[in-house]
Amino acid sequence: MTRVPALFVGHGSPMNTLEHNGFTEAWSAFGKHLPRPRAILAISAHWYFGATAVTAMARPRTIHDFYGFPQELFEFDYPAQGNPDLAGEIVEAVKPEWIGLDRDQWGLDHGTWSVLAHIYPEADVPVLQLSINALRPLDYHIALVRRLATLRGRGVMVLASGNVVHNLRRLRWDQPTLAYDWAERFDDAVAKQLSLDPGDILRVTEHPDFALAVPTPDHFIPLLYIAGLAAAEGATVEPLVRGYSMGSISMTCYGIGVDVELRKNPACAARLPPGVPPEQSNI
Ligand code: ZN
Repeated sequence: MTRVPALFVGHGSPMNTLEHNGFTEAWSAFGKHLPRPRAILAISAHWYFGATAVTAMARPRTIHDFYGFPQELFEFDYPAQGNPDLAGEIVEAVKPEWIGLDRDQWGLDHGTWSVLAHIYPEADVPVLQLSINALRPLDYHIALVRRLATLRGRGVMVLASGNVVHNLRRLRWDQPTLAYDWAERFDDAVAKQLSLDPGDILRVTEHPDFALAVPTPDHFIPLLYIAGLAAAEGATVEPLVRGYSMGSISMTCYGIGVDVELRKNPACAARLPPGVPPEQSNI
């Protein structure tokens, strides 16, 4: 079976689901030009809780886990199938680490579907989500994904969705193309570390801008899954698209095994609707 690529996507505002901009064009290009996977294992910043679990339902529901957005977004449905057999394979692959099978709690959250709405708009590839265990240290996630490195060769695309820089308290919703200096410095430091030695990605936690760029770990941890995969395979991680949104969000995307020509610096991602307090929006 074809070795399918792995992706890290900077997801930004969920309004990207409904809009078309330079970043969503890039996401569409992934779907058009990359080898088609038999399933997707998504790691989203928005399933961040006290256990490691994988969705194991035949038809995962679409979860609308944000506040203050237009009704059209709350009505958006991403009707991809699940794949309970693959969930079982994942549980076996990571032993003796433990992953729980989620049959009725989660589903697909907007970290996953705001991106997949553009990569696979027909929702015709089965999707599983792997939770981010909030109780474990950062290096746990790198070790866990190393146990899942064989998935790519079995046709499973790992899709990590978060943001390298994600600080909602500093967000300027009225300045869609702004990039704070500290956001650019940290984003550049991550790109450099990934190009030199992805297995040592946690070095960036010592960067002077880490605390501002990563005030909470939820949006950063998905990146560790791509870094860990690359380290396990001795593969390189390539930046696919670079850019910023509203000052304090990096829209940068990375890929392993991706051979697609993209516009490297798209102009503008979707913004927040006016009046939504950014730190309460859960984007
Ligand atoms: Zn988010």
